[in-house]
Amino acid sequence: MIYQGKALTAKYLEDGIAELCFDLEGDSVNKFNRVTLQELGEATTALVGEAGLKGVLVTSGKSVFIVGADITEFTELFKLPDAELRGWAQQANDVFNAFEDLPVPTVVAINGVALGGGFEMCLACDYRVMSTAAIVGLPEVKLGINPGFGGTVRLPRVIGCDNAMLWVATGNQQKPDAALKDGGVDAVVAPELLKEASLDLLKSAIAGEFDYKARRVEKTTPVKLNDIERMMSFTTGKAMVAQQAGRHMPAPLTAAKSMERNAGLNRAEAIEVEIDHFIKLVRTPQSAALVGLFLSEQAVSKAARGFAKAGGDVKQAAVLGAGIMGGGIAYQSAYKGTPILMKDIAEAGIELGMKEAGKLLAKRVSRGRMTADKMSAVLNSIRPSLSYDGFDKADVIVEAVVENPKVKRAVLAETEKHIRNDAVLASNTSTISITHLAEALERPENFCGMHFFNPVHAMPLVEVIRGEKTSESTVARVVKYALQMGKTPIVVNDCPGFYVNRVLFPYFAGFDMLIRDGADFRKVDKVMEGFGMPMGPAYLMDVVGIDTGYHAAEVMADGFPDRMRHDFTGISQMMFEAKRYGQKNGIGFYRYEEDKKGKPKKCEDDTALEMAAKAKQASVELSDDDIQARMMIPMCIETVRCIDEGILRDPADADMGLVMGIGFPVFRGGALRYIDQMGAKAFCEMADRYADLGPLYQPTASLRAMAANGETFFK
Ligand code: NAD
Repeated sequence: MIYQGKALTAKYLEDGIAELCFDLEGDSVNKFNRVTLQELGEATTALVGEAGLKGVLVTSGKSVFIVGADITEFTELFKLPDAELRGWAQQANDVFNAFEDLPVPTVVAINGVALGGGFEMCLACDYRVMSTAAIVGLPEVKLGINPGFGGTVRLPRVIGCDNAMLWVATGNQQKPDAALKDGGVDAVVAPELLKEASLDLLKSAIAGEFDYKARRVEKTTPVKLNDIERMMSFTTGKAMVAQQAGRHMPAPLTAAKSMERNAGLNRAEAIEVEIDHFIKLVRTPQSAALVGLFLSEQAVSKAARGFAKAGGDVKQAAVLGAGIMGGGIAYQSAYKGTPILMKDIAEAGIELGMKEAGKLLAKRVSRGRMTADKMSAVLNSIRPSLSYDGFDKADVIVEAVVENPKVKRAVLAETEKHIRNDAVLASNTSTISITHLAEALERPENFCGMHFFNPVHAMPLVEVIRGEKTSESTVARVVKYALQMGKTPIVVNDCPGFYVNRVLFPYFAGFDMLIRDGADFRKVDKVMEGFGMPMGPAYLMDVVGIDTGYHAAEVMADGFPDRMRHDFTGISQMMFEAKRYGQKNGIGFYRYEEDKKGKPKKCEDDTALEMAAKAKQASVELSDDDIQARMMIPMCIETVRCIDEGILRDPADADMGLVMGIGFPVFRGGALRYIDQMGAKAFCEMADRYADLGPLYQPTASLRAMAANGETFFK
């Protein structure tokens, strides 16, 4: 044994060849935490001291290679002052450099995921052999930072500046073929041949058949480009990167600049440039939000797995209502392997549901992502029906009929008679209280909400709603089913609108008030899209359906009359009354025409503008900041209320719910992170400036207390 640590070991395999194996104790994956970094340094020193050493093979003892840096350490690490953070980064790079400088050739066998720091470790080796089961890449920009262990220095020197710019600025994972084509790895082999092939390559390098030293010279000296080539490569590259990343994401362009500046330098200076850019990005609010969101995502997934433990497998599902949602649910369930019965009262409904599923499957087949055989197998596992035949076999039954409490109660009560006593019934209602719907049932403990988002196949979030009488085993079963469907469930307590719609409607109310006060809805859309929302509020209402939104707003107003009932006729009500329902009937705030691909194209409509002029009751001067504040304050305050009232488990669920449910901009992290970044005090002061707009703009007592104590939602 040359070195034995908690994260890695080094020992002789044969004849002067050492194996450095990453295998982090007590963890299912390898990652570059502080321990791993320190031990890599120690193991490297030990290897240098081995007189008979001829070569080093780098491997992993896990199914992944190294997933990357340990992001759970980032929050504390990134709080360090610049000098200390620089010290940490410099030390880490000293370790990688020392490994790269070993007096013998090195080959890495990349058996599985090698991302971020994991792939930077691979780049520090002389040769890279990749299994067909592995993926590689530098995804740091997705966390709002750039690679910090020499990635922006070594990658351009290994695969060329143009390719490196693409790899780093997109942060995309690279599959074996693509990695080989670009030269990021030297060979791709089947998993079972990986170690042998890597060892063979190492022996050839030891025998002098490959000049590993020449490779090192390439990696540690300036990129070989003349000034004109360098300018062309980086100028074009940067323009492309800036355009793709948009103005909210500084990391891709900063990473590109890091590569441009370090290209003409030797390794030591080049790494200093990388560290400069790294620190600059660490200090951005975007990186704080993205790192925070990553951690929230992990917390949400862990919680879901915890809830699902007692859920048992869902072997057969059923859905009631074959409309937009029912069809989507049937598709997703079948596609992910849970057979499903789909019942409707109308033949037309069934046809629509099957058509919806068929369309999605055909798209997969045409894109080469599914075989025709698999498509027919999936379609066959959706059994359409006009009766309850087979419902006694279903473990979970999802109700997705029209959003009408009377209809839903009747359908649920009838369904309960056709299903097993231990089966779980769930409603996909968007707004109606689960506790209220449960009153119609004999077994309310077996009932909960399962709120999907439209379109079901594309939206990752599912809210699982616990009514007053819902049992924990019911929650467990439905969470399990959501996970089987490949969704991310969050468990919330019951209230009108649950979580996502409850906070979305105050946002829409903010919109109605803006139009009342004279804002142009096209400008509001533009400002909120500039804020990072995937679409502005008027366009969003058109997409959701103004009739759907109107009915839901009524439910919300009944549930929270103190703040969600308007005392004026808002533009959305006027649109509803004029039967302008949005995309579904081709006219709403905008007019929709089919484009060449048959997709609805948004166009301006004079009548909508005239209606907005009628809805206007004042001419308040409104800056972009006013618009943004007046839209965001109600949503943020309602989110805080959901935390205060225990509707949500914690801030992680809150922010993930908004990101996954409505496409809240990831670089802002979510409504609570938005308050945190502004500071609760500044947020309350901002809300107070709009206090005359009513109770939706009134911060809660808890938020004022946080403001007074300088507290944050996230640590
Ligand atoms: P939809 O009108 O497209 O479909 C409803 C279907 O239910 C119709 O096919 C209808 O024939 C059928 N139906 C009516 N009564 C029935 C009964 N007794 N038994 C069986 N089928 C019956 O509606 P949708 O948009 O799919 O919405 C369904 C539910 O999902 C609603 O509760 C809605 O609030 C909720 N939801 C909708 C969206 C959305 O964006 N569309 C998003 C989330 C949740």
